[in-house]
Amino acid sequence: MSTRLHNLTAATKHRANHVETITPPDLEENFAENTFSIDEMRKRLPKEVFQGMVNCITKGSPIATHHAEIVALTMKEWALERGATHFVHWFQPLTGGTAGKHDSFISPTVVGRAITSLRGKDLIQGEPDASSFPNGGLRATHEARGYTVWDPSSPAFLVENENGSYLAVPTCFVSWTGEALDHKTPLLRSIDALDRQARRVLRMLGKDTERVQTTVGAEQEYFLIDEEYFYRRPDLVNTGRTLLGANPPKGQQLDDHYFGEIPGRQLSCMLDAEKELYRLGIPVKTRHNEVAPSQYELAPVFETSGIASDHQHLIMITLKRIARKHGLVALLHEKPFADLNGSGKHINWSISTDDGENLLEPGHAPHENLTFLIFCTAVIRAVYKHQDLLRLSVTSAGNDHRLGANEAPPAILSVFLGSQLYDLYQKLINGDELTSAKDTDLFLGVSMLPLVPKHAGDRNRTSPFAFTGNKFEFRAVGSSQGLAFPNVVLNATVAESLRDFANSLRDALRGKDKNDPEVFKKTVLDLLSKIAMESQSILFEGDNYAETWHEEAEERGLLNLRTSVDALQHFDSEKNVALFSSFGILSAAELEARKEVAFEQYEMAIDIEGRTLENLVRTQIIPAGFEYLNELLQISLHSSKAGLKSKAVSPAAHTAESVNRHLSELVSAVDELTEQLNVHVDDLHENARHKKDNVIPAMLKVRQAADALEGLTPHDKWPLPNYSEILFLH
Ligand code: ADP
Ligand code: MG
Repeated sequence: MSTRLHNLTAATKHRANHVETITPPDLEENFAENTFSIDEMRKRLPKEVFQGMVNCITKGSPIATHHAEIVALTMKEWALERGATHFVHWFQPLTGGTAGKHDSFISPTVVGRAITSLRGKDLIQGEPDASSFPNGGLRATHEARGYTVWDPSSPAFLVENENGSYLAVPTCFVSWTGEALDHKTPLLRSIDALDRQARRVLRMLGKDTERVQTTVGAEQEYFLIDEEYFYRRPDLVNTGRTLLGANPPKGQQLDDHYFGEIPGRQLSCMLDAEKELYRLGIPVKTRHNEVAPSQYELAPVFETSGIASDHQHLIMITLKRIARKHGLVALLHEKPFADLNGSGKHINWSISTDDGENLLEPGHAPHENLTFLIFCTAVIRAVYKHQDLLRLSVTSAGNDHRLGANEAPPAILSVFLGSQLYDLYQKLINGDELTSAKDTDLFLGVSMLPLVPKHAGDRNRTSPFAFTGNKFEFRAVGSSQGLAFPNVVLNATVAESLRDFANSLRDALRGKDKNDPEVFKKTVLDLLSKIAMESQSILFEGDNYAETWHEEAEERGLLNLRTSVDALQHFDSEKNVALFSSFGILSAAELEARKEVAFEQYEMAIDIEGRTLENLVRTQIIPAGFEYLNELLQISLHSSKAGLKSKAVSPAAHTAESVNRHLSELVSAVDELTEQLNVHVDDLHENARHKKDNVIPAMLKVRQAADALEGLTPHDKWPLPNYSEILFLH
């Protein structure tokens, strides 16, 4: 049977798998059952140790070593009771994914028996080889020692499989010399930095709080496609995206997919994944169809940023794993299909105290809410001052296809406030009397329908960084990315703004009666006015997709770092080294290492794409083209023998000519690609630039010729599932 017919037959057999759903009453009971949760700890730990853990999780207090050992042993008992055979120190190396080595709970004894012995300290500290993970030169191959160290603030969890389960312990990964080799360590450091500066500001406002946390809820976009198609496409298997594929007649023009009915098998897969996520204590809440066909979104309720970051990785891992159980593959790449919307991840981010006060909640009268104005201004200034960092925190070869492609925010950073706040900031900047527009109700024109409260500002989905009521939404993040680094940047840059504000306020109040509320308020507002004025060019309420914005942004002097290569250069600039090292989040050496790793990852991603395309075209596409050309030439030959040839060229010869033309374009394009791939560039940064400037354009040329050929080649001769099949035959 031809590939094509096989695909079509397979598609008719797609059915939803049965899934035991957990309904709300059980959900409360099953929620987090696969984690060593607070409840589990309360049941099992001595009171004093339990309190130590609670303080550690909620206040960031250190945990005593002898307590940590008790927790570790109790955790082991819990895992053994639940049938786990191994434990894993789970960490987030600079590959961008997660990693861990499985160690058995069972140890052999000298007399040839095996016992389940494990010391508490083995759960607290591990020692993986640190030289085999990307480290940007921090560790040479012969300097291999590295440690994984338990992060008690994030719950350990069980990973289940049909044939057993293991305990995963979230850890930080550092070198023997103490340098961070992962994304978690700087994230935890940045959380502490922000906590210190935020509490300092709050103290000046007369508010005492024990811990300030950043909160994060990330919306995850992804595609679900049939695994049959996935495995027939080496480009999807190797690179996560289609490197060729002609435009289908129907794409997303009709806007009929967004928020539409979720197909049965896909919904079944989502229910299954959500069930697993609940059991891991991950509060997934919403799901819907996204804009492109076969594209979906899932979002959990926000959590503190360290946990949200771990959970986001678990969401990605779980989606991929569960999809396979349903004969589907979850694509998390930023741009799996050309000319269709790609996938992003929106990081909703806010700052909150341990008693639950959201410091970015404007309330009904934001103009009177000094706390809100200070924290909001701190964020605006952070984005203005560190556009480069925010931009480079979302770089990847994949995300370069999305940013600025009229579906996602451009590579230019700006802040959208919404009309109410925007007006308020204009007044603040101009030194006018502050007022804020009142909330109003919306009347729908039918008296029976309830009046609904209207938000103080509209939405702007073109903005890369938008205020959405009581949080900011960073919308430029890539779908396959972890949350940690963008979060580190947000935490660090806002911590810096808060620190500078606290210093300025302290100086400005010198010699004034700071106990007089009016004096205090005026001093604060004067300072905020100055900061807002200095940062105002980052505020933009218009259409970020418009060409005119790009021109205006340039006039305003905003950065436009179009590609990863442009953005990554800024990683270890003097400004950025000063920022990160002043808070002890990343040293100059750690920053430089991250820059090197990011360049390496970018360069390698494109190299793999280029070689995959080269191979695919040479071994599948060109042979298919020749086969068809041969057939056409035969027909043409026979038809002239049979005297069918009219005065002009025969239709077969005519078609053969077009096929031949596209084929020769394809052959020369792929030769050019091979040549570019084989250019040897020693310097890593130059090599990345070579990939961007020469390999990517060569790949595009190959794609154009191949896609044109696809449009001519008989359906059953084309070796790959096409876009229509992949996207619509679910
Ligand atoms: P929308 O984007 O439509 O406004 P939601 O209000 O449902 O959607 O929020 C989207 C995400 O933002 C969810 O993950 C939600 O939990 C998260 N979120 C809501 N409030 C906060 C907050 N204070 N801090 C961080 N994330 C938040
Ligand atoms: Mg949103």
